[in-house]
Amino acid sequence: MKGRILSGMRPTGKLHLGNYEGALRNWVELQEEYEMFCMIADWHALTTEYEHPEQIRANVRELVLDYLAAGLDPKRVAIFAQSDVKEHAELHLLFSMITPTPWLIRNPTIKEQARDMGLIGEGEEVTKINYGLLGYPVLQAADILIYRANAVPVGEDQVPHIELAREIARRFNYLYGGFFPEPEPILTCVPKLPGLDGRKMSKSLGNVIYLSDLPKVVKEKVCTMFTDPMRIKKKDLGDPEARGCPVFLYHKLYNSHEIAQIEEDCKAAVLGCVECKGRLAERLAEFLTPVQDRRREAEAREGYVEEVLKDGAKRARSEAERTMEGVRERMGVG
Ligand code: SF4
Repeated sequence: MKGRILSGMRPTGKLHLGNYEGALRNWVELQEEYEMFCMIADWHALTTEYEHPEQIRANVRELVLDYLAAGLDPKRVAIFAQSDVKEHAELHLLFSMITPTPWLIRNPTIKEQARDMGLIGEGEEVTKINYGLLGYPVLQAADILIYRANAVPVGEDQVPHIELAREIARRFNYLYGGFFPEPEPILTCVPKLPGLDGRKMSKSLGNVIYLSDLPKVVKEKVCTMFTDPMRIKKKDLGDPEARGCPVFLYHKLYNSHEIAQIEEDCKAAVLGCVECKGRLAERLAEFLTPVQDRRREAEAREGYVEEVLKDGAKRARSEAERTMEGVRERMGVG
């Protein structure tokens, strides 16, 4: 094993291909090489979804099913709900005592998120957001450091949060003696998957392909995909790489053995967009079938999801409790 990893997602509903490419594909590979704790960040979900808590519990189950469907192995990976390991909250509290507020206010990801939620305007400071949202990078630092993880697989937008976790670890070690490792980000090298309309794939933009979409739905969605706007008719010459055709990018990921031929035929105007999309829909369906089979299998096993969560929480709690004993001792609290 190369080390220990903490990863996690907020339970905000069904996962889509963007989530898979941005995180899950990487996690499934990493589980072979690292000891892995994979959290379902239900407390983090409350930082923004606090008006609809009833949804969160249901989404926890959905997320476990998506993790299993993607290929995470619960025997290797401890899969657990954050709120089932209360030590995260205790460490968050203790870290909040040593975290200067400017470290949080200057965080660019929080500013962007608050702007996206309409809580602040352009150029405004993050003074109008809830304390929980402002402090969630501290909770995230606790999530990582409670397992003394030395690596965290993240997208580029989360790198500032990992930097904050490193700063908190350094500060703790300086004040109370070396204890925490400084976690390193493991960046996923997959480019951001565009949505059906060419913008970033996002549920709120309604441009997603879900992991649970059946072949008929995938085909309908792929038919609507944005392509090279300069190829209006089949006889128009294409250049999918240079013009960033999203369908071409998908072929790269899900139909790599045909990619050279597709590029050549598109450039020569031998291949039209309708046929090209048809082929992509088939490859996507082939890719998604085993994912959906695994999901169905897990769903059919009565009590299985609960069992996975219970076992994952037990393993996570035992490690978290060991860390907290060291933290309490160093900070002089019971
Ligand atoms: S033929 Fe395929 S790769 Fe070429 S522009 Fe159309 S959809 Fe894109």
